[in-house]
Amino acid sequence: MSELHKFLFEGLPVRGMIVRLTESWQEVLARRASNSDTGAYPRPLAELLGEITAAATLMQANIKFNGSLILQIFGDGPVKVAVAEVKPDLSLRSTAKAIGEIAADAKLSDMVNAHGKGRCAITLDPKDKLPGQQPYQGVVPLVDENGRKLERMSDILQHYMLQSEQLDTTLVLAADDKIAAGLLIQRLPVKGEANLEGTADGGREQVQQDQIGHNEDYNRISILASSLTRDELLTLDVDTILRRLFWEEKLLRFEPQTGMLGPHFACTCGRARVENMIRGLGREEAESILAERENIEVGCDFCGKQYHFDAVDAAQIFTAPGNQMPGSAVVQ
Ligand SMILES: [Zn+2]
Repeated sequence: MSELHKFLFEGLPVRGMIVRLTESWQEVLARRASNSDTGAYPRPLAELLGEITAAATLMQANIKFNGSLILQIFGDGPVKVAVAEVKPDLSLRSTAKAIGEIAADAKLSDMVNAHGKGRCAITLDPKDKLPGQQPYQGVVPLVDENGRKLERMSDILQHYMLQSEQLDTTLVLAADDKIAAGLLIQRLPVKGEANLEGTADGGREQVQQDQIGHNEDYNRISILASSLTRDELLTLDVDTILRRLFWEEKLLRFEPQTGMLGPHFACTCGRARVENMIRGLGREEAESILAERENIEVGCDFCGKQYHFDAVDAAQIFTAPGNQMPGSAVVQ
C-alpha cells in the first residue's frame, strides 16, 4: 500500500519525509497502458512522471494549504507536458503528453529541455477561491545558475525551493514500473530569521550564531540523505532506509499515513467539467464536430474515462442557463 512517513530530527530545525507510491502509481500506469490511443508510457517518461508524482506528494504533504498542489513540466522536446496534482487528502493523479519518439536511453533534457526552453511550474490552487483570486504559481527554467541543463528532477526542485521559497531542501527521487518514491529533507526556517528588524542587536547576533549551528546540522543530514541510491529507495522499506542513513541521529517519527489517509489515486474529472470545456469551444465548433460524427468524445487524460455528447446533449449545453461563461468564445 502507498505510504507517507514524516519525521523530525530531535532538537534540530530539520524535518524529513519519505513517500512510497505503489498501488496508486501502478494505477496511473495501468490506466495509461489501457488507453488505446496512447498506449503505455515509454520507460524514461514513466520514470520521470513517477518522480514528479512522488515529489508532488511530498510537497503537498510539506505545506499547510487547503487546495491542490500541481507540479508541471512544460517541455520543448517530445514531452510537451508532464503533470501531477495532489490534494490535501493526498489523493493524486498524474499524466504526460508526448509527441514523437522517446529513445530508450533518453535523458531528462532530451525529453523536456531539448532547446533549453523547458520550464517547471508549481501551482497552488486554493479550494475555496475568493472572487478574482488567482492560483499562486512559481516557474523556474530547467537549468542551473550557470545555464547548464539539469538532468535530474530532484535538482530542478531543489533549485526551485531555494529560489522561490528560500528553503534549503534535499530530494532523492526514483521510479520504475512498480513504485514511485521520494525522500525529502528540509531545513526549517529559524525563528526570527525572516524578519531580523524586529530583533534587538544582541538578539540578531544570537540568531546568526544559531544559524551557523543549524546550517551545520542541516548540511550533515543533507549529505547523508543524498547518499541514498536509486536502488535503495526503490527496494528498501522505510525503516531500513532511515536506519541506514540516520543511525547516528535522533529521529522523532510520526504515525505513517497509508490507505485513504495516505497517498491514493483519485481523479476529479466529471461530466460538468467536460461540459464547461465544450462550452469554451463555442457552439459553432461543437456543431461542426457533430456534423462529421455522432458524438463529441472527450477522454480524461488522467484516468482515461470517456465522455460522450450527442447533438441533444450539446444543444443543452448551449441553451442551459450559465452558458454565457466568461472567457467563452461565443459571448457576444
Ligand atoms: Zn479523470
